[in-house]
Amino acid sequence: MTNAYIEPEGCELLCETCAPDGADGYPDGGGEADCPQCCGQCHEPLGNALTSDGVAYVIKAVRQSLRDGRAKRNTVYDCYNGTHYEGSRHCEIVRDWARDVSWYGGLSPYDEQLLTRYLTWTDR
Ligand SMILES: [Zn+2]
Repeated sequence: MTNAYIEPEGCELLCETCAPDGADGYPDGGGEADCPQCCGQCHEPLGNALTSDGVAYVIKAVRQSLRDGRAKRNTVYDCYNGTHYEGSRHCEIVRDWARDVSWYGGLSPYDEQLLTRYLTWTDR
């Protein structure tokens, strides 16, 4: 996990690289949240812990990505240019979330299998 920062006058979480001097730091990627947090500028994942709603959010994103089909999952979008995910396939974002959540305990066997399959199917 990384520290997250918030500008003195801002409300966006930023990574250490993007944080301006004087930004307030928060440990553990900004702390537990209902979805995976990323830097507001470069989109690098901050690695925050997730609430049960946050885990459900990731499981839902994995299901949606599977429904989207292989072509959409493997598309590299221009909107990622200049971010942490530049040149990455669309599924790489969901893969990062799924990898983090796969380490959580307490997932149902069905959800564990879903995450394992997703990580396998979307691996290059
Ligand atoms: Zn950043």
